[in-house]
Amino acid sequence: MRSLNESARLYDAACKVIAGGVSSDIRRSTTSAPPLYIDHASGSHLWDVDGNEYVDYVLGQGPLLFGHSHPRIVEAVTKQLARGQVYSAQHALEVEVAELVCELVPCAELVRFNSVGSEAVQGAWRLARGLTGRPKVLKFEGHYHGWYDSALFSLHPSLDEAGPADHPRAVLGSLGQLPSAADGLVIAPWNDLAAFNRLLDEHAGEIAAVTMEPLLCNTGCIEPHAEFLRGVRERTRRDGIVLIFDEVITGFRLAPGGAQEWFGVVPDLAVFGKAIAGGLPLSCIAGTAEVMRPIVEGRVGHSGTFNSNPVVMAAAAAALSMIAEQRDALYDPLRERGRRLVEGIAERAKAAGVDILTSGPGPIVQTYQTSRSAIDNYRDFATVDRERTLRFHAALLDQGVNSVSRGLWFLSTAHDDADIDRTLNAVERVFDDPTW
Ligand code: PLP
Repeated sequence: MRSLNESARLYDAACKVIAGGVSSDIRRSTTSAPPLYIDHASGSHLWDVDGNEYVDYVLGQGPLLFGHSHPRIVEAVTKQLARGQVYSAQHALEVEVAELVCELVPCAELVRFNSVGSEAVQGAWRLARGLTGRPKVLKFEGHYHGWYDSALFSLHPSLDEAGPADHPRAVLGSLGQLPSAADGLVIAPWNDLAAFNRLLDEHAGEIAAVTMEPLLCNTGCIEPHAEFLRGVRERTRRDGIVLIFDEVITGFRLAPGGAQEWFGVVPDLAVFGKAIAGGLPLSCIAGTAEVMRPIVEGRVGHSGTFNSNPVVMAAAAAALSMIAEQRDALYDPLRERGRRLVEGIAERAKAAGVDILTSGPGPIVQTYQTSRSAIDNYRDFATVDRERTLRFHAALLDQGVNSVSRGLWFLSTAHDDADIDRTLNAVERVFDDPTW
């Protein structure tokens, strides 16, 4: 067992001044142990304030494609800090980053920057409504597009409230959320083209945009069926609906050009965040010149005090330059290590008689506590043993491995074979322990 005395002391103090003791709900502890209190991090490893060391597969919930404190990102940020941290004026770094995004991302002809994914999603939705003059956005059940009122619907709804699988209801995600925001959404099941087409028929002329996580990463790690993704692209093009990929997780992580490059299906508009700036807060809306025109012409408003501040732009220029320089040489080892990790976990689970299903393309992988052979949508995911998933996560923490509590694992270029070996040994110890 880890010693967590200093973490417990800090958590105690935090609960007196920070609501719930943490600064984002996802950081709440899932057990009676205090949440992680980090002292420092480097590469693929974290050290907590009690001196415990962890191999880190959370990576800040995805941004750290190059691991913690990559020297090129540290150098770029340090150099920029001495030259000013926010100008509220234009500068060369923002042009460089915009050029890199347009070079790397298939749909990107024009971009606009924000700070976090949630606000960039709002910008993309406003743009689509402004462009088409239509009021609604279609989103898929189980997909996450940020925590704002208009988006936080039907992420992981209780099945009592969620309605029929092929015609889901919009279910509020939080007390206090504006219920009328549901009027701006249509909820569809993921990977069901017939249901998708029926919903578009039902709402003909009302839908401005279809939004998806092209690789669903907030409800397991679920790939789109090829014919589903193609069908959505064809139907949205036919109906003049803006197809928006929310690439906040997949952008610059799945491939240099994100999921749209990986799956070979190009949306009209995409939203990026997380990995775009190597761990600093930057997001971006990227789209075709035609779709971005209402912003160019000033007919759709888009603002932000911290948009394209030079410190995060310095980090983004460093991160995106490394991606542009290395391309497959950067992603191939990530994919290989992710594959080794999930195959190793699956082998050890089989040997121990534990039911585990694995999925994911490598830079992002998932372990599910289930005897099912496939998870294709939220309703499948809802059958996974979530309690056991949380216990697996907690047991791994005790063994020095930090993964996302819902069973997701992010890989970085800093992870090496020794990290994977160490992780698989930890997994074996957990499986050998009958108490978890
Ligand atoms: N979209 C997706 C797919 C996400 O995973 C997230 C965050 O995890 C967001 C949007 C919101 O981004 P942020 O937390 O930066 O506001």
